[in-house]
Amino acid sequence: MSSETDDLSTHSASVSAHEELRRRVAEVDAIYRIADTIARATTLDELLTEAIDALLTATGADRAAVLLVDEDGVMRFRAWRGLSDAYRAGAEGHSPWAPDAADPEPVLVSRLAEAGFDADLERLVRAERIEALAFVPLVHGGRLLGKFMLYHDRPHEWSEGDVLLSHTIANLLASATIRTRAQEALSASSHQLATIMRTVDEGIVVQSQTGGLVYSNDAAARFVGFSTTAAFLAASRPDVLAQFEILDEQHQPLPPEDLPGRRALRGEASEQIVCYRIRATGEERWSVVRANPVYDASGSPVLSVSVIRDITATKAAEQRLRFLARASELLNETLDYEQTLARIAEMAVPMLAGQVVIDLLDDDGSIRCVGAAHFDPEKSDYLRDLRRRYPPTAADHPVQRAIRTGEHVFLADVQAHADEMAHDAAHAAEIRTLANTSGIVVPLIARGRTLGTIQLGTIDPQPRFNDADVELAIELARRASLALDNARLYRAAQARAHAAEALEFVDDGVFLLDGDGLVRLWNPAAAQAFRVKSAKALGRPIGELIHGWEMLQGRIPVATRPTGNARRPQTVPVDVKGEERWLSISAVSFPGGTVYAFRDLTEERAVEQLKTDFVATVSHELRTPLAAIYGAALTLQRDDIRLEESQRDGLLGIVASESDRLARIVNDILWASRLDSGQMGVAIESCNAAKLARQVVEPLRSHAPDHVTLAVEAPDDLPPVAADPDKLRQVLTNLIDNGVKYSPDGGRVLVDLSHTGNCIRFRIEDQGLGVPPAEQDRIFEKFFRLDPNLTLGVGGTGLGLYICRELVDRMHGRIWVVSDGRRGSTFFVDLPVAA
Ligand code: ADP
Repeated sequence: MSSETDDLSTHSASVSAHEELRRRVAEVDAIYRIADTIARATTLDELLTEAIDALLTATGADRAAVLLVDEDGVMRFRAWRGLSDAYRAGAEGHSPWAPDAADPEPVLVSRLAEAGFDADLERLVRAERIEALAFVPLVHGGRLLGKFMLYHDRPHEWSEGDVLLSHTIANLLASATIRTRAQEALSASSHQLATIMRTVDEGIVVQSQTGGLVYSNDAAARFVGFSTTAAFLAASRPDVLAQFEILDEQHQPLPPEDLPGRRALRGEASEQIVCYRIRATGEERWSVVRANPVYDASGSPVLSVSVIRDITATKAAEQRLRFLARASELLNETLDYEQTLARIAEMAVPMLAGQVVIDLLDDDGSIRCVGAAHFDPEKSDYLRDLRRRYPPTAADHPVQRAIRTGEHVFLADVQAHADEMAHDAAHAAEIRTLANTSGIVVPLIARGRTLGTIQLGTIDPQPRFNDADVELAIELARRASLALDNARLYRAAQARAHAAEALEFVDDGVFLLDGDGLVRLWNPAAAQAFRVKSAKALGRPIGELIHGWEMLQGRIPVATRPTGNARRPQTVPVDVKGEERWLSISAVSFPGGTVYAFRDLTEERAVEQLKTDFVATVSHELRTPLAAIYGAALTLQRDDIRLEESQRDGLLGIVASESDRLARIVNDILWASRLDSGQMGVAIESCNAAKLARQVVEPLRSHAPDHVTLAVEAPDDLPPVAADPDKLRQVLTNLIDNGVKYSPDGGRVLVDLSHTGNCIRFRIEDQGLGVPPAEQDRIFEKFFRLDPNLTLGVGGTGLGLYICRELVDRMHGRIWVVSDGRRGSTFFVDLPVAA
């Protein structure tokens, strides 16, 4: 075409006019073509390519290009014809106008040499064999969008027509570029929006005023059980609604017109928690639905946009937490855990499971069902009965497996395991009627001890258990175990508290040492025996409390069971603060330590000792008078010796006095045994105390050694005493006899009677050996003698004062002694004045 143009200048005017017309037509055609292209083109690239073709045809240029300013403000080739890669790469970015040029004009170059390009650009253009160029700006709204370029291979005089056409096309192109760009951006953003809507977790539903669905994203479709949006949109609304029961947060039916989407159509924005219970499965889906109205130009709502957020998982977690919290509360409320476990079983159905059975493991290893609940309430009793008839003892029963391993057991298909759980075919058949689908058994374990199991089962249409359910079951078991253990510990602690309380009152000493030999229990009897208070003993090493414990320990037999032959107490001497005490002690060890129990036998041992001494003394006491009597009798019997009268009387006197002594000893023993056997009766009457005292003293005076004198002093107006005269005589006899006996160096024994208060006081005072204050109580004990080994040569049975005290007691009186232990003793007897 360019050669034709060159030829034109030499043609005739008519030809020129004709040619001119043809050009005009071509121009108009080009404009139409471009306008049409612009109208049809949907993408910018398509538009620009079409525009290049139209430009070339309309202008007769050899080559053309369109460049647009990109985001970085650089002019870049977007469409072209006949340009090399090298040229485009070199020329890109070049612009004859400043980027912010207010009204850029086309730049027309007829000859390259005259263009005034810089050397690089000129070289580049020349290399591309371009001779003439036109730069036509694309301007829209006063902003430079880019340019289109026309090129001629030869020098070209750009005509005014060329310039006009270029302008027109440029304008069209610029506005089309803007529009197409906007369209592209819009479609890109709506595409993005659709993608976002498709991928968001929130369900989005748009409803029209008639209630029909205008739009739904995939999440919303999935939420109501459709696999695609298309299927959801195609479904009829009543059909969709019929699949669900719609409930509010409190599980109460929610009328469809109260749903937020419907309320938005009435112009009300709202948010609401909605529960969709799928009728077919019973499954519940929870969501927060938030809806807003969309208004038309007149301000009335035409659409509602609902955003549905699925909170089923949160709700389920919440429900689980609430269940766990409630279960914990129940468990902690009472120590009657069996009843509580039964309630928990009931509570768990149907929220967590269709069937729950809780078994406890008894100490003897047997399994006892304490709670059972079934989705069908009528089957709960049946379940318990079945458990009784067929306890879960089959080796492969999941309950047994859980007990054995201490781990939870999950059964994805319970029915597949029915046979291994069953004892026999009939049992297996019954398991099938319970219709559990999936199952979980969790062991109840506390401090390493398996206490039982919780067994959960699902029943159609409940969904089968998943990992979250297993976790929940484990958590429930953990809490139940804790409560069970607490209750058991509490009971044990209570039992121990009772035991400890009982130990407070037993006479036997009991102390408990832990594994480290520290005292953990120390009862009052122990405190008394070792003279260490409980508060001081607790927590201390036993070695610090009992002198010589190391050695002692070796002598105490320790049994491992409380009842066993090994537990024979050992009697050992213990030094308690310098005093020897005899303890009969035994011990039992248990996992937490050793319990020692002992009885203080010091007193009993002393009595034993006294008894031994008594036998020795009595035999001595009996032997001495007997020997004297025997000796006297033999002498009297002898024919070979002639005895003087006085000698005979002396010997007979010995026989008489020694017999008397014998009689008194025997008498004491008889009195004592009568007192012991409780056969001693007292007949209290009003007696003349002075007369009675004198009657006692008289015969004693005759037996008394010469250097001991006896005297009775009594006021004349002494009132009568209330006493049993025989018993009172015995008391006075013993006391006066002792006064004489324990005055080996002689002296006076005075019996002084007086009236003090409501009593008649008998005071028997001697000047003899005295009684040390420490022993003044003990001398009234049975068999007790200050001088058991007779070192002082005074014999006795140790019964006399004992008899006195017993008799005075029975006559409602009081007896005691006053002595400094060195010189003389004074015995007092107070008896009531006779009424
Ligand atoms: P006994 O037969 O030994 O005299 P008693 O029961 O009469 O037994 O007395 C107990 C002990 O009390 C005596 O062994 C003696 O040591 C002491 N006793 C009793 N009376 C006197 C006394 N008057 N003076 C000193 N000691 C006495």
